[in-house]
Amino acid sequence: MNKKYLLVGLLAIDLFLIIICVVSRNSQVLNVSSRAIEEEIISDDIIAEKETKKVALTFDDGPHPSYTEQLLDGLKKRGVKATFFVTGEHASLHPDIIERMDEEGHLIGNHTYSHMQLNAGNMEEYKLELIKTNEVIEKITGEDVLYVRPPYGVWDKRLEEELNMFPVLWTVDPLDWCSTDVSGITQKVVTKVGEDDIILMHDYFETSVTAALAVVDELLAEGYTFVTVDEIMFD
Ligand code: ZN
Repeated sequence: MNKKYLLVGLLAIDLFLIIICVVSRNSQVLNVSSRAIEEEIISDDIIAEKETKKVALTFDDGPHPSYTEQLLDGLKKRGVKATFFVTGEHASLHPDIIERMDEEGHLIGNHTYSHMQLNAGNMEEYKLELIKTNEVIEKITGEDVLYVRPPYGVWDKRLEEELNMFPVLWTVDPLDWCSTDVSGITQKVVTKVGEDDIILMHDYFETSVTAALAVVDELLAEGYTFVTVDEIMFD
């Protein structure tokens, strides 16, 4: 073969190899950069999810002279806000605890004066229980009470317009008041809970308070943000 043709042939092969090399490198670069963009999108999604995955812890029946303070200490340490549905009777016995709830950014709601269940025949009496409890709380905090947790979940819609109050029921109920098994209560909540859930617990029992703080720790680790119920109901 002519030496000149051989040289041209070798050069052509070299050129071909260089082109292959450049194309494959570029596609690798493209792969790497598209992967980087993908990862960025995924991490943005996780951050967005963390910002929006809200849950509300609510506590009924308090304030209790020692367990509620224990709970408030634990919530403060974790930077978590909750909603307390207090009875007028307990609130008037412990105004200092109501004041502390308010100062520390928790939402305070009404749970009737004497934990009365609304029955067909006691509408007027029930209304008075709500009004009396609002007065007790408002005297301490200086703020209107807008939310009510009706004992046993029994409510009459006519009361909403008459009193300008909103009933707050719940979506997760671990029945903490009838158990002393802290990890059982905690597991019932963390396995059932999802975004925008309202968890019902009671600050009138030490086991409930211990379980509630364990729930907070687990859900914070799962990326949940604790909000007061108004942020879930009117978002
Ligand atoms: Zn109750």
